[in-house]
Amino acid sequence: MLQPVMTDGECTLLHSLISDATSIVVCCHQHPDGDAIGSMLGMANVLTLLGKEPVMVAPDQYPDNLHWMPNIEKVVRYDKRRDFVDIVLHQADLICCVDFNEPSRTDAMTDALLASPARKVVIDHHPAIQWPDGWQPDVAVIRPQASSACEVLFRVVWQMGLFPSLGKHFAGPVYCGMMTDTGAFTYNSTDPDLYFIISQLLSKKIQKDRIYRNVYHNYSVHRLRLVGHVLCNKLVVDTQLHAAYFTLTRDDMRDFHFVKGDAEGLVNMPLQIKGLRLSISLREDTEHDNLVWVSLRSVDDFPCNEMAGRFFNGGGHLNASGGRLSCSIDEAVETVRQAFLAYADKLK
Ligand code: 5GP
Ligand code: MN
Repeated sequence: MLQPVMTDGECTLLHSLISDATSIVVCCHQHPDGDAIGSMLGMANVLTLLGKEPVMVAPDQYPDNLHWMPNIEKVVRYDKRRDFVDIVLHQADLICCVDFNEPSRTDAMTDALLASPARKVVIDHHPAIQWPDGWQPDVAVIRPQASSACEVLFRVVWQMGLFPSLGKHFAGPVYCGMMTDTGAFTYNSTDPDLYFIISQLLSKKIQKDRIYRNVYHNYSVHRLRLVGHVLCNKLVVDTQLHAAYFTLTRDDMRDFHFVKGDAEGLVNMPLQIKGLRLSISLREDTEHDNLVWVSLRSVDDFPCNEMAGRFFNGGGHLNASGGRLSCSIDEAVETVRQAFLAYADKLK
C-alpha cells in the first residue's frame, strides 16, 4: 500500500479546489521532457474525468518522440500563442504546475504565471524553493525523493481515490514520465513502491514495450551519426578528475540535421566510462547568440545541482541538473574547467 503524500486536509482542499474551478490551466517547464509532458497530460486527464476542460500550456516545443501521447496535440505553446495564453492564465481560477516549482522555469511565461490571481497546485519532485512573494501555492506536493513528477502525480491521484476510474490515457503518459526520468528504470528507481505503481499502470493495458520503442527507438539516422560525431570528435575526458564534457555547436547541429530532442540522453553516455563521476554537455542555443544550455549528470553522491547553482545559473536534482550561460561556447568551456577544478576533491 502507498503511504499518503498529502494530509487529509490537503486532499480535501485539492478535491474542492478542482470542483470549485471552472477555468483550469495545467502547465509545465521550459524544454519539456517526458516527465513534464507526461504529468501534464496525466493531470489534464484526471481533470477531464472530473468534468473539467483544462487548458494545457507548455512554454515551448516538446520533443518529437512524445508525439504518440494521446491528446498531446492539445498542448498550447506559449512561444506560439502568447496572447491567448496570457488571457487564459489571467482568467484561470486554478493553475496546476507539474514537474517544476520555481516559476522562472517557465522562462518567458514567468511574469504571466506570477501575475495570475488563480489558486495554485504544485505537483513536483525538484527540491522546493522559497516561494516568490505573493505566490504561495494552495496545495504543494513536492517529493524530491520521488523518481519523477509522474510518480508524485500517481500518488496524489491514488490518495484521492481516482485511480480506479482512470484508463490508459492516464496510465500511458504517467508510465512514460517515470520511465524517462529514470533512464528506463536504471537510476533513481530503487523504491519498491515504484514497481507497485508500475503494476497498477500496467493493469490499465498500456503497452510498455511500445512506449519504450516510441521514446528511445524513434530517432533519425542523423541523430545516430551525431552521437558518433560527439563521442569521436567532441568528447573531452579528464581521467584524473573522472569528469567529461562536450560541446554541441550550431555547426554540429546543421551538419547533422538537428531536430529538437536529438540531444536527449547524449549527456548520459560519458557515464558509461568506468569510474566517471560527472558529465556535462554545452549546447549552443539554436537561435540566440551567446546563449549556451548546460546539462549535468553524475553518479553516486556528486551534487550536480550544487554545481549547477554555483557555476551555471541552474539547479535540479543531485544526479541530473541543468542551467544556462550567457556567453560564447569557448567561454562556457572555460567555466566548465573552472567548475571541474573547484570540485576536484569531490571528483577524485
Ligand atoms: P536537463 O539536463 O535534462 O535539461 O535537466 C536535468 C534536470 O535538471 C531536469 O530535472 C530539469 O528539470 C532540471 N533543470 C534543468 N535546468 C534547470 C534550471 O535552470 N533550474 C532548476 N532548478 N532545474 C533545472
Ligand atoms: Mn521530472
